[in-house]
Amino acid sequence: MKILSVNAGSSSLKFTLLELPEEKVIISGNFEKIGLPDSFYSVKYNGKKDRKETLLKDHTDAVKILLEELKNYKVIKSYDEIDGIGHRLVHGGDKYTESVIINEDVLKTVESLVPLAPIHNPANLIGVRSFMEVLPNTPMVAVFDTAFHQTMKEEEFLYALPYEWYQKYGVRRYGFHGTSHRFIANKMKEILGEDKKIISCHIGNGASLCAIKNGKSIATSMGFTPNAGVIMGSRCGDIDVGLLPYVISQTGKKFDEVMNDLNKKSGVLGITGISSDMRDVEEGFNNKDPRCVTAMNMYANKIVDYIVSYNAKLEGADYIVFTAGVGENSDVMRDMIISRLNFMGVKLDSEKNSTRGIKGIISTEDSTIKVCVLPTDEELMIAKDTYDLINK
Ligand code: ADP
Repeated sequence: MKILSVNAGSSSLKFTLLELPEEKVIISGNFEKIGLPDSFYSVKYNGKKDRKETLLKDHTDAVKILLEELKNYKVIKSYDEIDGIGHRLVHGGDKYTESVIINEDVLKTVESLVPLAPIHNPANLIGVRSFMEVLPNTPMVAVFDTAFHQTMKEEEFLYALPYEWYQKYGVRRYGFHGTSHRFIANKMKEILGEDKKIISCHIGNGASLCAIKNGKSIATSMGFTPNAGVIMGSRCGDIDVGLLPYVISQTGKKFDEVMNDLNKKSGVLGITGISSDMRDVEEGFNNKDPRCVTAMNMYANKIVDYIVSYNAKLEGADYIVFTAGVGENSDVMRDMIISRLNFMGVKLDSEKNSTRGIKGIISTEDSTIKVCVLPTDEELMIAKDTYDLINK
């Protein structure tokens, strides 16, 4: 079966066409700057990437071109060869604990959750509706970033705030990156043959940690929004909200501008003033740029705070798993994190850790917690959910 996995943002649309159950990627691509004059898209096929400049008025435009390209690249002859479409949706609130087939009720519910994710959910919905317009008879599935974390206990997801804020307005921790953490949980079970206690570290441009027990999320570092938890590329992570009125009074900025700064100008970009990309920050670190050194140390420290905390919540983790851009590729950052855990007997095998493209165990034989690198695959997870639901 051919399943299309889609991730629509406010001005972008990423897609991957996969063959299931073989789990084989056929073709993938990315439409960028939709609605802007310099819009373009790229298609990756047979190890080759083609980039094409074209005006993409809106998402429906992108969807039409996408489908045409699938024919041009001869991966399908007609649209009904696409058996299902899985959409990444950011916020399912506490309404969805797993993926669901999309119908009008689901769309209404996701719409009702827009206040919780005012940027992401509308963009995701535009993506869904664009596909529905062009392919009205193709089954579609919603895969929520928040769903995996709905197994957290109340004592874990509540904030110490007036309880009515939770009851009336849904103010609580939701957690995100759930599809990635679930992929890690499932893959680890597949590899090991049983559920182990896992600390999943998804550290990319966005970053979050998740404590997984019996295949379920029991704690995660992102919160009501994705801007909580560890330090990210340009997001601040955990901060004292008491600083907000002070910053507003000192800078004369409006609340929205400050929120934008917390999301887009903070994190490693904020600290270094150079870049949100860890490759650049690592280069600065190697050249002993003081702010890059500080940023790398802060970044590692914060992840260690969560690992230690989650080790306690799990009553002793079996595995620490590194995934996503930084987790999969930065041996320097993995080393900085794990060296801070040497005191509790967690140790890296430095040769394995520094092997390019390493997958699997990177800790020493006697490490008290095993450490491994496992590439995440959210597109595959979305496609698998879609395949499972449409075959039910
Ligand atoms: P996203 O969160 O946007 O999905 P990714 O998981 O793809 O992002 O991670 C992208 C980030 O991974 C980049 O911004 C960069 O900081 C980091 N990264 C990628 N390769 C390396 C590398 N070799 N060394 C350090 N960081 C890397």
